[in-house]
Amino acid sequence: MKAVVFHEHGDINVLRVEDAPQPAPGLTEVVVRVRACGVNRLDIYSRTGRTKIAPMPHIAGSEVAGEIAAIGDAVSGLSIGQAVAVAPYLFCGQCEFCRAGEEVLCLKSDIVGLGSQGGFAEYIRVPASSIVPLPQGVDFTSAAAVGLAAITAWHMLTKRAPLHPGQDVLVHAAGSGVGSAAIQIAKLHGARVITTVGSPEKIEHARKIGADEVINYREQDFLQEVRRITNKRGVDVVVEHVGEQTWEKSVASLTRGGRLVTCGATTGNEGKTNIWSMFAKEISLLGSYGGTRQDLADVLKLVATRQFQPVIHGTYTLEQVGEAQRLMENREQFGKLIIVPA
Ligand SMILES: [Zn+2]
Repeated sequence: MKAVVFHEHGDINVLRVEDAPQPAPGLTEVVVRVRACGVNRLDIYSRTGRTKIAPMPHIAGSEVAGEIAAIGDAVSGLSIGQAVAVAPYLFCGQCEFCRAGEEVLCLKSDIVGLGSQGGFAEYIRVPASSIVPLPQGVDFTSAAAVGLAAITAWHMLTKRAPLHPGQDVLVHAAGSGVGSAAIQIAKLHGARVITTVGSPEKIEHARKIGADEVINYREQDFLQEVRRITNKRGVDVVVEHVGEQTWEKSVASLTRGGRLVTCGATTGNEGKTNIWSMFAKEISLLGSYGGTRQDLADVLKLVATRQFQPVIHGTYTLEQVGEAQRLMENREQFGKLIIVPA
């Protein structure tokens, strides 16, 4: 099969389209013919060596939708040709957190395309337990577009820091996968959304998907703008994923009793926190790690009923994976970049 493979860490020039062995399913696995795979920062981290991956050569790609092509002997309830999405967070099913139904906290957790081969290929092998059937009316590109970023945003704003109608939320980076999803999810919950963008062209995009207030963080200080927009009150929830560059001001953007929820650290892992202000204002700092199979099913249902529209910047071939990753590295995209193997 055709796949985008790298044999060493490096820039986009290490990516090669090669012939790779077509996977066969183990007893409890299925093989999916990849029809769409979202590009995620994780692919860049695995390519550059920021995250640990399986021994090379490696195929990245975590956000897969496609058709079932082969089924392991011990798998029931799935059929060849069935349209499915692959839940990207892998789990053991046996540790104390899995037993409690908290699969994203699994002690042996992994993500599709990190410890195993990913979806920038014509076929991928995954555990049958990770398969979520596509509801009618959801196409492969849309399904891949909600694969990781949208379920992460959903998990953040429904499980970790639920929003209530009328609350104010600050969502960083409207053009990112998590940001564009979080804006829509926050609006579904009746919140007022303040968001940030890095260029004037993205302001209109951000408004189109529901943002009430848009701050160009390259021209304005987002903390001062949040204080101005909220009449110095601050926001109830901050959706963080930028990390080091924004952390201190994100915490300072919160009102009393506010909650910061984070799922990423794109610009670095260290963040300064004013501890006095944190306890005196009863602020909560919450981590959020990906999403569950049910989070994926929930978001796919919202796509099917048109309550959630994945924001797609463009689709690319396997040969264009490097180009798509470059767009993401330069933050030139608005929404998801989707690879469609021919
Ligand atoms: Zn487990």
